Amino acid sequence: MERVEVLVVGAGPAGSVLAARLAAQGHDVRVVEEHAKVGYPVQCAGLVSARALALAGTTDVVRQPVHGATVLSPSLNAISFRAPEPRAFVIDRAGLDIALADRAARSGARYETGLRFDRRMGEVEGGVRVALTRRDGEPVELAARLVVGADGVSSAVARAFRLRRPVEILPAFEAEFPSSPGDPDLVEVYLGLRVSPGLFGWWIPDGHGGARVGVATHADGTPARAYYEALLRQLEQRHGAPLRNPTGYLVSGIPIGTVPRLSGDRVLLVGDAAGQVKPLSGGGIYTGMRGAELAAEVAHAALAADDLSAARLQEYDARWRDAFGAEFDRALFLRRLFLRCTDEELEAVLTALQQAGTTETIVAFGDIDFPTHVAGKLLRQSPSLVRLFPKALGALWGGEPRRAPDLEPGPDRLQR
Ligand SMILES: Cc1cc2nc3c(=O)[nH]c(=O)nc-3n(C[C@H](O)[C@H](O)[C@H](O)COP(=O)(O)OP(=O)(O)OC[C@H]3O[C@@H](n4cnc5c(N)ncnc54)[C@H](O)[C@@H]3O)c2cc1C
Repeated sequence: MERVEVLVVGAGPAGSVLAARLAAQGHDVRVVEEHAKVGYPVQCAGLVSARALALAGTTDVVRQPVHGATVLSPSLNAISFRAPEPRAFVIDRAGLDIALADRAARSGARYETGLRFDRRMGEVEGGVRVALTRRDGEPVELAARLVVGADGVSSAVARAFRLRRPVEILPAFEAEFPSSPGDPDLVEVYLGLRVSPGLFGWWIPDGHGGARVGVATHADGTPARAYYEALLRQLEQRHGAPLRNPTGYLVSGIPIGTVPRLSGDRVLLVGDAAGQVKPLSGGGIYTGMRGAELAAEVAHAALAADDLSAARLQEYDARWRDAFGAEFDRALFLRRLFLRCTDEELEAVLTALQQAGTTETIVAFGDIDFPTHVAGKLLRQSPSLVRLFPKALGALWGGEPRRAPDLEPGPDRLQR
């Protein structure tokens, strides 16, 4: 049976960032990817921050910088935020995965596509035995000192090692249109129970005159596609013409919530497998890559010390919590408030945001990786926003005073 030092399951951004780090430090790293080609099929809208690009070490994948967003209420009342400089970048998502895999391979990580992790078989001397299957059905067994689950939203590694799954998985549906009206400088966010109970609908310019249009919603029994069709009707109403001839669809899921354990004996989870997804937007490229960096630091030290016990690897959970715990807690709190909103309340939120000063605050402090920072500023600046939620705040805290958690601290946009 072949032995490897680190087996990384999944060649998405999280897996390849971790693989590059560990391989560059001299570890023997094997990455297995169940699909035939890294990066495909694409299951993402591909909107990232400058931080994410810096961490990925490439800007070649950028298709279109965007300077802000238009947020639309259920009745299509719109408010736009436009910064002088780019605030996010629409990328070629498959290109990103390929660039990250190339970087890891250049550092010495070995990739094998068309190879699926199936299950954990048991212990071997100094490692764990796992079963995999090639696309042609051929079974493969490997022994690894450490297994990393970078295998996305339905992580087989998390299941095999009995680490719990994210709390909620939002079904998502997206289509690409070769041409679309709309401002290529701004993304559009559609709120409302008809379009997306659970998150929002989006319109994202693709940099070639077309757009990526999608929704992520609660798993409420209604197919995400039905909500997507409601979004298309909203877009038609907004632009006065229907979008036509989609060139491709994607159906996937977004994990939202806190995974109680990111590590165990000889195992680490990173990226979507670890629930490292921003609760207010469902974006997980930046956070997953950061999680992978933190995991790689802990894994390197643990491998060097030859201690891959759950107790040692828990250091990774602690580092993740230090880096993102407070932001995710605040975001999950705001998300609970948002989920209690009726369409009428969402209309009122949009109206409150149109008051003098709030647009400037959003432009000055908006940050797609740390959105609760600006939310805290807005709640302080605009008492009418707080007054909109007495029912929701009451439901959250029962008899407790109606006070939001401290939303003030937030990193400078330019820091990581
Ligand atoms: C519709 C939609 C739109 C999104 N838009 C954005 C966005 O605009 N910005 C953003 O930041 N995030 C976005 N996200 C989230 C983002 O796509 C994920 O957070 C990100 O891809 C997570 O990276 P990852 O490396 O953890 O997992 P993934 O990118 O999912 O990679 C996991 C890899 O593991 C492989 N794999 C799975 N199981 C196995 C197995 N058993 N054996 C071997 N290989 C396996 C998969 O084939 C895949 O290649 C979106 C998600 C969806 C669904």
